[in-house]
Amino acid sequence: MMTLPVALPGRDYDIHIARGLMGQAGEYCRALLPKAERLAVVSDSNVAPLYAKPLLESLRAAGLEATLLTVPAGEQSKSLSMLGTLYDFFMEMGLTRSDGVVALGGGVVGDLTGFAAATILRGVDFIQIPTTLLAQVDSSVGGKVAIDLPAGKNLAGAFWQPRLVLMDPNVLGTLDDATFADGMAEVIKYGCIKDADFFARLEQRPSRREIMADIESVLYTCCDRKRQVVERDERDTGERMLLNFGHTLGHAYELAGGYTRWTHGQAVAAGMVKAAQLGTRMGITPAGTAERIAVLLCCFGLPCAIDCTMAQYAAAIGLDKKGEGGEISLIVLELLGRAVVCKLPKAELLGLLEETV
Ligand code: NAD
Repeated sequence: MMTLPVALPGRDYDIHIARGLMGQAGEYCRALLPKAERLAVVSDSNVAPLYAKPLLESLRAAGLEATLLTVPAGEQSKSLSMLGTLYDFFMEMGLTRSDGVVALGGGVVGDLTGFAAATILRGVDFIQIPTTLLAQVDSSVGGKVAIDLPAGKNLAGAFWQPRLVLMDPNVLGTLDDATFADGMAEVIKYGCIKDADFFARLEQRPSRREIMADIESVLYTCCDRKRQVVERDERDTGERMLLNFGHTLGHAYELAGGYTRWTHGQAVAAGMVKAAQLGTRMGITPAGTAERIAVLLCCFGLPCAIDCTMAQYAAAIGLDKKGEGGEISLIVLELLGRAVVCKLPKAELLGLLEETV
């Protein structure tokens, strides 16, 4: 087993990574929460039929009264009304402040359940058992939890660190290729922004099968890179911004596709390539970097370019019709493996985008 300690003042926690860990969850939860009587387990309609039974059995064998709530799979469950459903469920099962809440699922279940845990009874202990590649390398680490509002994504949220993260790579076996690839966009992002050696290692493993042969170490490296950033900037006021590499332009591509044509991971993939092209245009990113990133993304079926009009780019970066809108922080690569924040007027960014079409 690999264990990665996350050191945040007063809120330290461990990330454990091992195949078959799901079946040992009871021992870990019991040791973590010696006074707990009940655990509320929240999962979704795809994940619960696959993995809830072994998890509940393990928790109950450890003497915990574990009760399951299953929400519909999909982003629409990150809603105010579903949050209310979770609160009602916690109250009906008699959850107290010495009990805990477990999220078993992808980023949707993790974000929703984490926000409910952060706010019920002014905050109860929260355990993440992430089941998508994206949730394992990204959303389960770092303590950002949220729901969506009609006005936009992740608008109501909190920083609520988990007390424990249990990652069982075996669960990735049931992901479809598109969902696995979405997670790979984030995996490749860590190589781009923080770790050139890791990027080169990924180039040596250009398929899902080869990544899975080395998955514990891939998960560990990604979580470790995110840990370093989160430990230095838990509240997202500085360095954490680097994790947004590819995301500003990715937002434009999600918008261009009406939020249905492209998944978030696909949009971020194309956004990373475009950001590297822009960086080269600005004289910051060495020539050839965008091509190297594109080749690796393609190996996982991710797009390296997405059609987008100038009006869509302008809307995504918040530039109004008069071309006014202040500055934007674009994440660019000084080198493969080293990202920096580049502040520039939005109108200038649009001009650069026009030149690189
Ligand atoms: P998701 O939770 O919707 O999972 C994707 C799909 O895979 C769902 O249909 C789910 O039911 C299914 N699934 C999950 N695990 C499975 C498994 N092992 N086998 C088979 N099917 C499985 O989406 P996601 O990509 O995991 O997460 C996206 C969400 O994460 C978004 O809401 C995003 O805002 C959020 N997010 C949060 C952070 C953060 O820091 N908190 C970071 C990135 C993304």
